[in-house]
Amino acid sequence: MEITEENNFRDTIGTIKDDGKRNVIYPKKPKGKLTNYRTYVSWVLIASLFAAPFVKINGNQFLLFNVFERKFNIFGQPFWPQDFYLLVLSMLVGVVFIILFTVIFGRIFCGWICPQTIFMEMVFRKVEYAIEGDRTKQIKLDKQSWNAEKIGKKSIKWTIFFIISFLISNAFLAYFIGGDTLIEHITAGPSAHLGTLLKLLVFTGVFYFVFAWFREQVCIIVCPYGRLQGVLLDNKSINVTYDHKRGEGRQKFRKNEDRAAEELGDCIDCDQCVQVCPTGIDIRNGTQLECVNCTACIDACDAIMDNVGFERGLIRYASENDIEKGEKLSFNIRILSYTVVLSLLFVFLITLIFLRNDVQANILRLPGQLFTTQGDTIRNIYTYKLINKTNNFYDDLKIKLISHKGNIQVIEGKISLEKNNLHEGTLFIKISKKDILSSKEKLKIGIYSNGELIETDKTNFPAPIKIE
Ligand code: SF4
Ligand code: SF4
Repeated sequence: MEITEENNFRDTIGTIKDDGKRNVIYPKKPKGKLTNYRTYVSWVLIASLFAAPFVKINGNQFLLFNVFERKFNIFGQPFWPQDFYLLVLSMLVGVVFIILFTVIFGRIFCGWICPQTIFMEMVFRKVEYAIEGDRTKQIKLDKQSWNAEKIGKKSIKWTIFFIISFLISNAFLAYFIGGDTLIEHITAGPSAHLGTLLKLLVFTGVFYFVFAWFREQVCIIVCPYGRLQGVLLDNKSINVTYDHKRGEGRQKFRKNEDRAAEELGDCIDCDQCVQVCPTGIDIRNGTQLECVNCTACIDACDAIMDNVGFERGLIRYASENDIEKGEKLSFNIRILSYTVVLSLLFVFLITLIFLRNDVQANILRLPGQLFTTQGDTIRNIYTYKLINKTNNFYDDLKIKLISHKGNIQVIEGKISLEKNNLHEGTLFIKISKKDILSSKEKLKIGIYSNGELIETDKTNFPAPIKIE
């Protein structure tokens, strides 16, 4: 397509000027029904984000991603590095879910759920409006010289930004080191845990940079999900869309005009949808990669439509086909097949999680050790690892042979397994020569708690080729 004056928005980014410099965006404060709904949703999400590292289910942190100690909890379910396949599968289901959701509902996630948008528009931007005022006042303040007013307002704003960034970084760190550990480190004082303080300051710096300066560029330049929109969206995807059929030809509103007679569209070219846009685009140019579906332009346009007495919805949630052919969203074959695929994946994942044993055993032969003969028995030495994925304490676990008659001698004697912990040790397995049929017997071993079999594992038992 040839790039012209009219369509050069497809070849440029709203936040970068022609000379390559940053085009600072001063969005007008949005008001309206959808903005109110988004505000309520943001309260719930922010509360959940701060609460999740401190809420516990069965004594387990609700969400934990402790990569340092390799401990992971998802919805209160502990995952060990041995469960990595489940984590990978959960991520795959998550990716498929996001893809399917995006194909149908476009970037609703960006506008309503993404933490970047929530914190930027619902927290930092609101602080900015409260201190510096709306768009025109902000532009004026930035243009004026550094007088007492500007220094005062900017200092207060930056200080509050820093405090909020510090709070976010505390919550963020709690996901990695655990909510209890964070509280412990805070109560012990910064000097007792300088490493934690350093991490907090680094995270604070990153959040401050993102929300005070980098802002909408995260969505436009950095976010991989944003980049994927071009391949995920199609004519049936729901997006914040300008109804160009109804809106064009746009023209300023004049009192007592007869727009129908003059064959004018409903867009009165008031520019309000552009002024409220936090990514600096004009939605009337069509779907653009910068649009995070924040709904600010829907509210702005609806308010204008009310003022001039036109029907609301000139900018609304709609698909390309809705605008072009009047096709409404219906539960068609495409949505049905995507839903079936997603449901199957989800059921598969849940089944794997529920089939997962509470205690996992790994019994391996000690490398480099040969079998030994003791009278009429053959003996091999093994290492064992028992992982307790629950909050139960297992006292006096027993390891016994299931497939063969024989004897297992645990070097440590008694095996106790603390909650969410692992126990490693060494054991000998002795089997009578008459019960060995091959040079590499396959053994099945059981782990018992109070006489109940709770886990099994398989291993090899080397023996002489010719048993006398
Ligand atoms: S707010 Fe509505 S009427 Fe005003 S310019 Fe945008 S689309 Fe046109
Ligand atoms: S075009 Fe509308 S929905 Fe998209 S980012 Fe701008 S204001 Fe938000």
